[in-house]
Amino acid sequence: MCQIEGHDSSHDLTTISRRTALAAGGAGLLAAVGATVLGTPATAWAQPARPVADDLDVYVIVTDGMNPGELNPAQAPTLNRWADHGTRYTSAQAHMIAETLPNHTAMMTGVFPDRNGVPSNSIWDHAAGEDRTMDRADDITYPTVLERVRVETGLTTASVLSKDYLHGIFGGKASVQWAPFPLVPITDHSLDEFTVEALKRTVTDHNPRFTFVNLGDMDRFGHMDLTGYSLRAARNQAVWNSDHKLFQFEQFLRDTGRWEHSVIIVLSDHSMDWSVPENLISAQSALDADPALRGRFGIAQNGGADTFTFIGNPAERDAALARLREVVAALPGVRSLYTPEELRLGDRAGDLVATAHQGWRFSDPTPVSNPIPGNHGHEVTLPIPFFISGGHRIVRHGQVIDRPVTTRDVAPTVAHLFGLTHDDMDGSPAVEAFHL
Ligand SMILES: [Zn+2]
Repeated sequence: MCQIEGHDSSHDLTTISRRTALAAGGAGLLAAVGATVLGTPATAWAQPARPVADDLDVYVIVTDGMNPGELNPAQAPTLNRWADHGTRYTSAQAHMIAETLPNHTAMMTGVFPDRNGVPSNSIWDHAAGEDRTMDRADDITYPTVLERVRVETGLTTASVLSKDYLHGIFGGKASVQWAPFPLVPITDHSLDEFTVEALKRTVTDHNPRFTFVNLGDMDRFGHMDLTGYSLRAARNQAVWNSDHKLFQFEQFLRDTGRWEHSVIIVLSDHSMDWSVPENLISAQSALDADPALRGRFGIAQNGGADTFTFIGNPAERDAALARLREVVAALPGVRSLYTPEELRLGDRAGDLVATAHQGWRFSDPTPVSNPIPGNHGHEVTLPIPFFISGGHRIVRHGQVIDRPVTTRDVAPTVAHLFGLTHDDMDGSPAVEAFHL
């Protein structure tokens, strides 16, 4: 596995203090952009890598939770125009578990969860004896391209991530890291309005050559949409608003002469499924009702998927796991059971993964633990929009590509553009999108 040598982020971490928010409403909030900046590595590399072009700025922009069908001229005119201008991939998929943290980690590492350490948003933490969110900077166990571009080429990288847990798990990776602010209560994310303003400020102040962006509104308003399961007014408004913010970002790039330097990779990390209130699966209740299972498994609930970790007497493991499969498979709404090995999820996914049918969700540990209508993590939420565009001369125009691509292909594509090795990754670069 690739190792980044000679880098210890704890030594070169400097912090730019968060500016004081002005009292004057939105303008003041926009000024409150806090960023952490890592120093340029002092170590000289024997053979520093070279980008494919000296004037290249790469942006990976994640439209969190966007469905492929929402990439159309009526709902997302800017994104649709960008996709038409560049290379549109029509068979793109997230990887399992179709959640935010594993797929953002896949994008930046190019490898499966059994190598990068992040199988799901929430895992059963064996040592702690409870479930927890994977939001720690040391949860990712494989080098990210945010680090590798910074360390191996000496170029500035940036992360502008709207969600607090994304900022946590990618802490210490990029040269410049924006801490999402202000955060919306409950959703713990920053509205796209603030995130895109922070993106412009980050680009203006630091001129990063590679920037990783997450826009959280589509996902957050999709989860929380209470206007009905078919109308989804808040979600549709969020798609349109996010698209408009990206229109403004394009204008910013054009106005500052950066558009001609830009390669823009846009994708979502998963799509979204909606369930009616009664379509919930409470696995914990079923386990508690079974004497052979009660107290023997820890459950990490991930919306459209549950992971089960055996916590009983090791001698009873095989029998308990066999019984678990029978009981969970019989629950209404359960679609499939997998071993973590089948999905290449690694040890942190425990001993068994269960997924929901379309229109269903898990709610654990209690039937009221997950009341939200919008969920993902299960198979129906794997398809994602994915295109490569931008104003740089290497960007190919007007292509539609049907071959399957995935979130794991982003890191090798970025590595390829910056002249870094990517043979060790599980994904492969989207080379057909470029004149190279
Ligand atoms: Zn997400």
